[in-house]
Amino acid sequence: MTDWKALAAEIYDGSFRPMFVDGAWCEARSGRVMDARNPADGSLLATVPQGDAADIDAAVAAARKAFEGPWSKFTPFERQALLLRIADGFEAAWERLCLSDTLDMGMPIQRTLANSRRVLGMLRFYAGQAVAVHGQTIPNSFPGEIYSQTVREPVGVVGAIIPWNAPIAGSVWKIAPALATGCTVVLKPSEEASLTVLMIARIMQEAGLPDGVLNIVTGLGAEAGAALAAHLGVDKIVFTGSTATGQAIARAATGNLKRVSLELGGKSPVIVCRDADIDKAVPVAAMAVFANSGQICIAGSRLFVAREIHDEFVRRVADFAAKLRIGHGIDEGTDVGPIISARQADRIAGYLAAGPNEGAEVLTGGARAEGAGLEGGNFIHPTVFGGVTDDMTIAREEIFGPVISALPFDTLDEVVERANTTPYGLAAGVFSTHLGTAHKLAHRIKAGSVWVNMYHAIDPAVPFGGVKMSGYGREGGTEHLDEYLDTKAIWINAD
Ligand code: NAD
Repeated sequence: MTDWKALAAEIYDGSFRPMFVDGAWCEARSGRVMDARNPADGSLLATVPQGDAADIDAAVAAARKAFEGPWSKFTPFERQALLLRIADGFEAAWERLCLSDTLDMGMPIQRTLANSRRVLGMLRFYAGQAVAVHGQTIPNSFPGEIYSQTVREPVGVVGAIIPWNAPIAGSVWKIAPALATGCTVVLKPSEEASLTVLMIARIMQEAGLPDGVLNIVTGLGAEAGAALAAHLGVDKIVFTGSTATGQAIARAATGNLKRVSLELGGKSPVIVCRDADIDKAVPVAAMAVFANSGQICIAGSRLFVAREIHDEFVRRVADFAAKLRIGHGIDEGTDVGPIISARQADRIAGYLAAGPNEGAEVLTGGARAEGAGLEGGNFIHPTVFGGVTDDMTIAREEIFGPVISALPFDTLDEVVERANTTPYGLAAGVFSTHLGTAHKLAHRIKAGSVWVNMYHAIDPAVPFGGVKMSGYGREGGTEHLDEYLDTKAIWINAD
């Protein structure tokens, strides 16, 4: 059994952690630093550089030099071998990586550990993809010996900007396809959770990553993030975060018309039909939101339940929620950890007040969690609101906290229309034991992913992403590699 507290004291002692540019560990050029605090108790874990536009300039220059230089000589097989060594490095350091995430952003340790299959799978999946990229020979309409073919080329320097809610998976999902395709990367982690990303860079360096192929600039969104999005030396931006920031990034990218992929927010519907297996659906529908304290882009925060079973189902979800154990992520018994910051907890508290003000009923939770063991942290009780209508603020806006809005429905046509009445389209859940109903709903809901009789499944081999204002582009699957590749046509006159 790992002694998490002892390991935590060994990993973070409040000291300075440098960022990673051109293979060197360095301070910000300005010398400024930011605090990295544990959201469970407010304690200082470390300080990190507060990089800005000058550091982004240096990182982009290093990424360009590596892209044009030594990295371009790596064969696909060498890139594959590197990704496999990186996966082994992750496996060896897995407990430290997971604990780092738990300390830095609060996710319960049991949950960070359980993500291993997906993250190690991602690295090994993209290792396989590295040697699978290829063009085509295409017949054409020209007479004579004129041949046409395509080759797939890396887009170049990729700027990656990620949020704080899943730093390990979030960064690997940006870096691994870049390494597989031969791109180079400048990554800006969230100012709320930079530490694990720096740990990841060290593992990659130790696995033999050449200088400049991956650069990590820690800093604020408005400074380092905005500079990266607008940088004329960046060929592509891959972004995960809020819809408002995604819009700012898309605007900033117009200077050199860099390519953009956006994984943004959601207000995902979960639809429980009257023929659902209630015993199985209750915990899944609850954890569709309460996992990671609701700080998940795919949170199934609008719970539509068939009127015949609505009251019983929602009561059971509320009972389930009330039994979840709130606490430090480092305690193995914790189900629901802290919210990332006081600012974010205040935002969520605003929705907890807006619900009853607009007529919703608190079935469980509805308040901050305080008391022994929670001092100094940002905790919110898992909350279920009943009596919600579609026009209420809690039913329309992304809360990014542990809050479910329960809504009754009468017919399938009606629930499809209501589920789709949102600017978002990231994910949806359907619970039904009737094959036809499940199929109909899955096809008619506008979302990038629909899970039937399950939720949350994300796999390296299966595309994930949004429609409408949840963004564009796909991560996972072979489509993901396309995001990092350009297609060149080559014509040969052999006559
Ligand atoms: P955010 O948009 O505030 O920040 C995300 C990142 O963007 C951070 O690194 C931040 O520093 C940076 N940033 C902020 N302003 C910027 C600017 N003007 N230019 C460039 N970069 C800037 O989001 P957040 O609060 O960290 O995360 C929560 C949001 O992310 C939620 O809306 C959630 O739904 C979304 N999210 C989406 C997915 C997905 O895959 N679709 C996954 C996780 C989170």
